[in-house]
Amino acid sequence: MNIIETQNLTRRYGRTEAVHELNLAVPAGSVCALLGANGAGKTTTLKVLMNLLAPTAGAATVLGVDSRKLGERERAQIGYVSENQQMPLWMTVRQLLDYCRPFYPTWDAALEKTLLDRFALPAERKLGQLSRGMLMKAALLSSLAYRPKLLVLDEPFSGLDPLVRDEFIKGVLEVSEAGEWTVLVSSHDIEEVERLADRVALLEAGRLKFNETTEALQGRFRRIEVTLGESEAKLAAPPAGWLEVERAGRVVRFVDSGYERTATEQACRERFADAAVTAQPMSLRDIFISLARAGRRFDKLTAEATAKETVS
Ligand code: ATP
Repeated sequence: MNIIETQNLTRRYGRTEAVHELNLAVPAGSVCALLGANGAGKTTTLKVLMNLLAPTAGAATVLGVDSRKLGERERAQIGYVSENQQMPLWMTVRQLLDYCRPFYPTWDAALEKTLLDRFALPAERKLGQLSRGMLMKAALLSSLAYRPKLLVLDEPFSGLDPLVRDEFIKGVLEVSEAGEWTVLVSSHDIEEVERLADRVALLEAGRLKFNETTEALQGRFRRIEVTLGESEAKLAAPPAGWLEVERAGRVVRFVDSGYERTATEQACRERFADAAVTAQPMSLRDIFISLARAGRRFDKLTAEATAKETVS
């Protein structure tokens, strides 16, 4: 079952199309990282899911309900923490928790206490006097304490120091150990969410590039090194899935984004005949750096082609 599902979801701001025909599915029990560069459409997607914005076209379903019809019942099962969250700054941390508690039948007082200690939050201090990291922790605490079925985090780590980020992640993991829940967390950096996510969805200019488990993603990416024998290499027109192809002397290196041992070796034999091929697994970070570089190169080629067209 999918806790979140979008069908051809599109959202425009005037003439800017922030999200384009998005078909995103987040299965129950998964922790999904929604990744993308600045302006890729992450915040817009999450705001539509939370019914803070209406879709321009298409639709989204959250906890089985159309996002435009999310009511009190669903909201009591969703935790939403965003980077620019409005908080009642005049309240102390304790007043915030006292205020939130009655809204949620599932509020777990023991968990509230554990997280208050873990986050080292000064209960009697006003929210307006907390640092940014502390404020984010207070927002997270007030969302985790009722053990929501779905937790949506919009760039929760940006600007947080490594220690606070670590506490934040541990807080989320603490709750996730206790039962099945679903998390959708947006970020522009895989390293920030690597410890949490078991699924990754990549947005590029409002379009979904892929949405798969981290296991599947790491399974299909390999750094390939080919040591050439005596015959000539045919480097022209490499397969579309080969990224960052480069040659140094008799060694050819590239990243295969659709690695499958037999097929990759066959493709190498066709181009390099008697070469020796090695394949190294890649970290998620390396995969994303490679994808970003390939994307940038592609953008540059497109821009150059457009410029030429304009000139001619
Ligand atoms: P970031 O990582 O920088 O937060 P993002 O992936 O969350 O970016 P969005 O904030 O969803 O991206 O923005 C997607 C696109 O929509 C961008 O081109 C942005 O300029 C545009 N956009 C976002 N909000 C508005 C708005 N209120 N009015 C006009 N355009 C907007």
